[in-house]
Amino acid sequence: MPIAKVEPLLTTRRVSGPFDYRVPEGMSNIEVGSVLVVPFGRRRVVGVVVGVADRSDLPESRLAEPLEALEAGVPAELVELGGWVGEEYCSTPARGLGLVLPPGVGTGAEARRVKPLAELEVEATPKGREAISGGERLGLRQRAVLRALASGPKRARQLAATAGSDRATLRRLEGRGLITTREVERRRRHHSTGVGAVRDGVELTDDQRVALEAVTGALPGVDERSAPRSFLLHGVTGSGKTEIYLEAARAALDRRRGAIVLVPEIALTPQTMDRFRRRFGDSVALLHSRIPAGARYDEWRRLRSGEARICVGPRSAAFAPIADPGLIVIDEEHDSSYKQESDPRYDAREVARRRAADTGAVLLCGTATPRPESWYELEHLELPSRVDGRALPPVEIVDMRGGLPGPLHPRTREAFLRVGQEGGKAILLINRRGWSTHLTCRSCGHAWECPHCDVSLVLHRDEVLRCHHCGHAEPRPDACPECSSVTIARVGSGTQRVEAELGEMLAPLEVFRLDSDTAARRDHGELLQRFEAADSGVLVGTQMVAKGHDFPDVTLSVVVDADGALRLPDFRSEERTFALITQLAGRSGRGQAGGRVLVQALATGAPSIRHAARHDSAGFLAEELERRRVLRYPPFSHLIEIALGGSDEARVEGAAETVRELVADRLSGDDELLGPAPLFRLRGKHRRRLLIKSGRRQEAVAAVRDAVATAVRDRALRELSISVDVDPQ
Ligand code: ADP
Ligand code: ZN
Ligand code: ZN
Repeated sequence: MPIAKVEPLLTTRRVSGPFDYRVPEGMSNIEVGSVLVVPFGRRRVVGVVVGVADRSDLPESRLAEPLEALEAGVPAELVELGGWVGEEYCSTPARGLGLVLPPGVGTGAEARRVKPLAELEVEATPKGREAISGGERLGLRQRAVLRALASGPKRARQLAATAGSDRATLRRLEGRGLITTREVERRRRHHSTGVGAVRDGVELTDDQRVALEAVTGALPGVDERSAPRSFLLHGVTGSGKTEIYLEAARAALDRRRGAIVLVPEIALTPQTMDRFRRRFGDSVALLHSRIPAGARYDEWRRLRSGEARICVGPRSAAFAPIADPGLIVIDEEHDSSYKQESDPRYDAREVARRRAADTGAVLLCGTATPRPESWYELEHLELPSRVDGRALPPVEIVDMRGGLPGPLHPRTREAFLRVGQEGGKAILLINRRGWSTHLTCRSCGHAWECPHCDVSLVLHRDEVLRCHHCGHAEPRPDACPECSSVTIARVGSGTQRVEAELGEMLAPLEVFRLDSDTAARRDHGELLQRFEAADSGVLVGTQMVAKGHDFPDVTLSVVVDADGALRLPDFRSEERTFALITQLAGRSGRGQAGGRVLVQALATGAPSIRHAARHDSAGFLAEELERRRVLRYPPFSHLIEIALGGSDEARVEGAAETVRELVADRLSGDDELLGPAPLFRLRGKHRRRLLIKSGRRQEAVAAVRDAVATAVRDRALRELSISVDVDPQ
């Protein structure tokens, strides 16, 4: 009796399979990757087959049978990849497998599932074809149907539209043996499919050709398993990286392999998707959350069946069901959206790397601002100049020390006024939303903080104080609750205040604001398009404005408080600051008018700011890598963060100590274990953090996994939350 080993998709950490089920006669096509509904205790749950066997260790009489097999199965390669993610990121097998399921499966057995859409295809029989000319008696509609079918089979839907037929007409024709009908699958499509024209590529520049040849030279043929190769394609925006992705994907198809192209947030990168569609037509499938469930399910099935061989999408597309990928591209590889910030906290870049290694695919990471890890580990391919030959705009550092009244330096104001007079376009980036960053009482120094989180409340333009972490809101106070003073100072500026100030200063020039407050109300892709289409205007926003879009006609780019991130205790702040300034500079000032970039900062000598002002990536990365080597940060170690939270501070503290001991017992001599350190209180939860720095990733991950499992088993974490983050961002 065949046995299916099934991992039930439960969310709890306390149950982990696989469990054996008896495969009944009628389900003989069950294999690794089949998705089943199985009885589990008294429930029905969805599970994935992770193995098949001839016999079980349990007596047959104790084994249950699956209740149902779902339509779409997962490739065996992805079952393994999902299991790996569950382990590698200290999650559970079930949560790892949840990532590789077809869209719309839903893990509850009673969840409403997306199913393939069926429709009727109609074909005339030989008798039916004769009937039109011959003496058969035909109704008006019947005749119209047979005429329409003279040129070949048609879908019932088409016949309804062109010949006015309904089900009854078709049934009658079928009854007389004049037509045959059969059920076929109808693919739901999100985009129009009128893009079939496959356009040829452009003539590559010499730099592009050298880079492309390195990539295609490393591409494996069908069934070939050469040593995996990984490249870092380093080039500014407009240097022709996407053109290389396109040509490399074509080369992969020529070798009968597939390609995966990962892009950051989809809302900001529609152009990349469009370019792939235009060049490859229906061979491209798009997988992202903005596509309606039915269409997404069908795109998944097109990839699964091999109808589509290229998949473009955000981080989840690392799990696209492509057989035999030959190429995996990660566009804008520095982008933090590749890291999932909920369990399983996987990094799509690591998943891609793992998948490439397993399948023999080439990994191609492109960016203008490489991560130090990639710069250190991958083979470099350089595109040193823009395709249009234009130079990068000069970057000026504006020293903000000495206390200025508003958010803008006089030199910055002057530059904006010039844009206003000449009617050009400008971008201003400020990494804080709202009006004032916080309020303080001038008499006693009282600060307004969130009652649930240990952070300042931010004043918004609508006179409401808001917590940017939990959403708590309260009206702006008239007096201090401590000393009753009515002199309350508004400190710091956010996007709203800058928007208002620029609006007043530059009227009637239009000011566009883009931050997560506006994005919640509107599609931010649409706002960026309106700014792009306008003849003049200023775009004010958070870091979203530096991502994805290029604005060739922008003549002034300004970063306010460029070193704000450097004041946070985060080893990636230098890297982030460098990327932010460089990305903004690289996306503007490309047109005839040239451009100017102003960077306002207090710490004007910070390495990230100095190097960004000179467009010197190599210099920055060399210095940053040296710093990380000394401090033993990635790529010179692997980090694992364990966070505990709960409403009772003493219990959180106690559990953190317990977990610390459990981890310490399992680490080896070279590993560092830091903490427990307090994290700020969030949504009423007290939090503690442990950090592990290790040179041996596998062993450290295994140690943490085991320590957490032990703590869960010993009930040391009751009523507390615990999360493990491998490679925290
Ligand atoms: P990146 O991805 O680095 O931003 P793109 O590949 O998008 O660069 O190229 C920027 C622009 O230059 C695009 O409009 C692209 O069509 C065009 N382009 C790229 N390579 C060439 C080339 N060899 N000749 C002419 N135009 C090119
Ligand atoms: Zn006061
Ligand atoms: Zn809060």
